[in-house]
Amino acid sequence: MAAFKIGKVVLRSLFKKPATLMYPVVPRKWEERTRGHIDININDCIFCGICARKCPTNAITVDRNKKSWTIERMQCIQCTHCVDLCPKHCLSNENTYTTPEVEKVVDLHVAPPEEPKPASDDTNKDSVEKKNA
Ligand code: SF4
Ligand code: SF4
Repeated sequence: MAAFKIGKVVLRSLFKKPATLMYPVVPRKWEERTRGHIDININDCIFCGICARKCPTNAITVDRNKKSWTIERMQCIQCTHCVDLCPKHCLSNENTYTTPEVEKVVDLHVAPPEEPKPASDDTNKDSVEKKNA
């Protein structure tokens, strides 16, 4: 009786679509709302630190003076709380996972240095002064 049941399962499995993929030969398709990893658009960040204060696992560190934003990948649980609370909407939940590592991964993002303000105001002042002279 048991052999009959097993035979039935084996026969059924032979004609069923496999439940697994031949990864990496067949690439994995990520669903749109997969909680893969948190990403930041550092150019829009104002370094308010809300994301760091509200993160339940203390995965984020924000340094306002150095204009840096750091995330400990292996501490993040992809709850997306930081994404929901960011006032500048510069955090996003990307649907691809970070690559597996045997050591703790810390990603550091630093804002690019501010460009010097154009000296157009001074130029105008000069031209005005010259006209008046
Ligand atoms: S909450 Fe948003 S704007 Fe504020 S530090 Fe975090 S990422 Fe930057
Ligand atoms: S997704 Fe959650 S755990 Fe990960 S950094 Fe944001 S608030 Fe922290």
